[in-house]
Order: sequence, then C-alpha cells, then structure tokens
Amino acid sequence: MTTTIIQKTDELLASTYPRLPVVFERGRGTMLWDTEGRRYTDFLAGIAVCGLGHSHPAVQQALAAQAGRLVHVCNLYYTIPQVELADWLVGHSFADRVFFCNSGAEANEAAIKLARKVYQDRGEKDRFRIIAMEQSFHGRTMGSLSATGQDKIKQGFYPVLEGFDFVPFNDIAALRAAIDDTVCAVMLEPIQGEGGVVCPSADYLQEVRRLCDKAGILMILDEIQTGMGRTGRLFAHEHSGIAPDIMTLAKALGNGLPIGAMLAREEAAGAFGAGAHGTTFGGTPLIAAGALAVVQTIEQEGLVARAAETGAYFIGQLEALCERHAAAEAVRGQGLLLGLELNREGAPIVDRCLERGFVINCIQGNVLRFAPPLIIGAHEIDALIECLDAIL
Ligand SMILES: *Cc1c(COP(=O)(O)O)cnc(C)c1O
Repeated sequence: MTTTIIQKTDELLASTYPRLPVVFERGRGTMLWDTEGRRYTDFLAGIAVCGLGHSHPAVQQALAAQAGRLVHVCNLYYTIPQVELADWLVGHSFADRVFFCNSGAEANEAAIKLARKVYQDRGEKDRFRIIAMEQSFHGRTMGSLSATGQDKIKQGFYPVLEGFDFVPFNDIAALRAAIDDTVCAVMLEPIQGEGGVVCPSADYLQEVRRLCDKAGILMILDEIQTGMGRTGRLFAHEHSGIAPDIMTLAKALGNGLPIGAMLAREEAAGAFGAGAHGTTFGGTPLIAAGALAVVQTIEQEGLVARAAETGAYFIGQLEALCERHAAAEAVRGQGLLLGLELNREGAPIVDRCLERGFVINCIQGNVLRFAPPLIIGAHEIDALIECLDAIL
C-alpha cells in the first residue's frame, strides 16, 4: 500500500514537491504514524503550522460542531465565528481590523494591495514601490513571489510584478538609502524563516520602524511563520517592542486549517472599502470556528510562554551539540523556530533522522530547521539531540 500511494502520487500530482518516502496517516500531539505503523516525533509541525500538535480535541470539537451548523455562506453576509476570531486577534495585537483569506501568500497579496491603495487614495499615484529584503520569502502567488528576495524561487516566472526593490536584511543604511518618494512600504519577516532562520540584529526592527515613521510609509511584517507563539511571544515583533502598520498571519493560525489573515491599523485598513478586495472562502464559518479554537487553546494552555521556555532549553542543547561536532557550526532562531547551520549538505541528515523516527527539515542547503509543536517536551528534544549526535 505504501509503495502504491507513493507511485500514484508521483504519477498523478504536479511534481512541485520533492517528497520524502513516507506516507503519514495519523497524528496525535507531537507524534506521527506512517502507513507501516512506524512512529515519528514531529520536529517540523508541517512547517511551523501545527503549534498545538496533531488532532487537538478542542479543534476537533469546534470543527465537528460548526460543520453541523453552518459551513459557508460567503462574505456578503454576517457570520459569527469570523467576528469572534477577529475580536481575539485585534484584542491581542496592535491591529484595528482584520481581513481573512486562505493562505499566507494571499494574506501578503492583501497587504501589498492595501499598501498601494493607501497612497493611491491620497492621490500619490507614483508612490507604489515596496522595499523588501534579500533572501526573504513571502509566498508563491505572483504578488507575493514578486516580494520574495530569492532568485531561485522566481526563476522561470519572470517578469514578476513591477515595484519591488530589495536590500540586505539587517542593513539599515541600505534601507535608508533605498527609501524615496516612490516608496509606500517596507515589507519584511521579523525572522527570515525560509531564508535560513536569520534573526534581526539588535535594534534592527526598531530602526526600520523609525525609518518608516520618518518617511511616512507603512511597515509590513510577514509573521506567517513567526506568529502565534512560535518565537516565544505571540508575535515576534513583540521582542523588539515595536508594532508594524500591517501584519500577515497564516501557518499556525489554523493549526493546519487553511486560513490567512491580514491585520492593520485603522489608518491603513480604511483604504479597503466595499469591493476593494475579496475572496470567496476567507473567514468561512467552519475554518474561523476551528481557528478560534486554536487561538483560545494557545492562550488556555499557556503555549507562548512554554515555547519561550522550551526554546531556551532546545537552544542550549543545540549549542552543546555544536561544541561536540565540527559539522555543526551555529544555532540561530528564537523560541521554537530554530536553525542549525552545518558545514555540509543537510538533506542526508534529514533522511537519516526520518529513518530514526524524527521529522526535521533542511533549508538553504545546509541549515537544519526545527519548528516542532509548541507542546514539545524536554525529553523529546533530548531524544532528537541523541539522534543528531549519532548521525553527526
Ligand atoms: C509559508 C510562508 C508564506 C506563504 O504561505 P502559504 O500559506 O504557503 O502561501 C509567506 N511568508 C512566510 C514568512 C512563510 O513562512
């Protein structure tokens, strides 16, 4: 059965993903099981998505109840779960308004469109450029792809959307030099996830905030990977004591349900009037009810503080690993979004971890990425470290 699934998948689906040879069938908490009955500890959580772990009963119950009540009517009407979810998000962030969509890329599309519209509404037709970061990742749709600062992801799809300039992350002088009166926004991730878990240097985000304020332009933070407690604060920008004007969320917001959100302060959000933007499924009752259960559970189970605590322990263990093995060069990240930089290709290590029952991932060729469910325990981290010790 396993080989049939793998063969048919390779035959029938677009081959956009280099998949590992495992068929996952079931998950609970931090554990996954494949079709051969083998058990794995999940240190990836579907790329920083399943913060609560797999099959959380609160989400199951919310989905089952809502599925029996109302799944979809579209956004021409008022529904209850989406306003409850928006209320939670606004109550826990800098934002005044929320736009719901179905993915991270779509949330970034909304952010890009909103930033342009804010200035076009003011008659500043030439102020449409957005400064983004080299090595950034914002998604695969044409707009979010255009904001992505990695040529290898854009290859084959040129020309991309006009109006994006790129500067090196953590280089405030380069950003300052790039801002002129054609720029409407600066768009960046508070920690570059796909770029290799690259953290901002001290004061960088504060400096970006200051430059944006001075120039009268918008600061857009893509917290799709870093949000919802992943870094040990609900949103990663809280570590810097600043807030953006626009923030995008997705990944862990639905714990695996397809949902994205763009949050904005009123001054910016106001530019999205009736008919300005839309999507059929955004904030549908079913998915919003599930996501509401997700955010309430994050709060009730104290998962943000837990991510900070467990993350500190994990970083310590990874740093000790670096001291024991020359192949492991550096640890990066915050909370439970961590990268281990190697002096060699990471893919063979990912394969060997999988054989030994650990799901991890490799980015940028030589960075092992760990983004486990926020409920991961110290004993599970110890077991992974033991496994990495044996492999390295
Ligand atoms: C995953 C990710 C996206 C894209 O989200 P999708 O849901 O895959 O469209 C955008 N930005 C960041 C920072 C991400 O990690």
